[in-house]
Amino acid sequence: MRKIIELYRGKTKTLYSTDNPNLLVLEFRDDVSALDGQRIDQFYRKGLINNKLNYFIMSQLQEAGIPTQIEALYSHNAILVKNLEMVPLEFVLRNRAAGSLVKRLGIEEGVRLCPPLFDLFLKNDSKRDPMINSSYCETFGWVSKHHLSHMREITFQSNEILKKLFSAIGFILVDFKLEFGIFNNQVMLGDEFSPDSARLWDAKTLNKMDKDLYRQNRQTQVGLIEAYEEVANRLGVKLD
Ligand code: UDP
Repeated sequence: MRKIIELYRGKTKTLYSTDNPNLLVLEFRDDVSALDGQRIDQFYRKGLINNKLNYFIMSQLQEAGIPTQIEALYSHNAILVKNLEMVPLEFVLRNRAAGSLVKRLGIEEGVRLCPPLFDLFLKNDSKRDPMINSSYCETFGWVSKHHLSHMREITFQSNEILKKLFSAIGFILVDFKLEFGIFNNQVMLGDEFSPDSARLWDAKTLNKMDKDLYRQNRQTQVGLIEAYEEVANRLGVKLD
């Protein structure tokens, strides 16, 4: 399968067409971004690490019955994926308070959330990804009521699978973000799952092992790649 043209360049990934209109190549670059793209830096090997981590985690979800867009590993920093019609929403699930929840409600970081909290955001960098709800989706036609409820259900199911997966290797899955698309009228998990889009804390030390290491450090980042590699190592994901 050949990469043909660049279709879309996001903040950290690039999508290419292939000779099959149903398949795309999703490439993970070495870029990292924060503040809705206002801060961008490069970290050597980050693309490779996130590609392999994403492929492993998406495969685990797929094996557990969650429909995902992944088809096959394409290269060290890219995968072959189904060409979904993406829904412009971010589905966030939180097991512990962190990030925007702490800022918005003043809840102490780390507080356990039972049952887990579900948030919905519109993907719109210029509006800083505003929080929305199902009523907005219906009124503005971003996704049908039926598909939305299925996506929400898959988000909760994924949480159960991933919480177990990470807890078995000594991590707390604090929160994560998923994105979905439609393929042949079927809901599928798209985009990525990586330490860029999830918060992972070491269960013993409570050290952050995710993109917060970059978000919270204004200077040149030390330790981001080491943390991502540690996540890969504990999951048994080979990086070479
Ligand atoms: N997240 C993401 N992309 C975004 C916003 C959030 O992947 O554009 C992830 C983030 O890494 C975290 C979860 O979604 O795991 C919840 O993020 P939060 O709402 O706390 O916002 P943030 O602190 O990232 O601004």
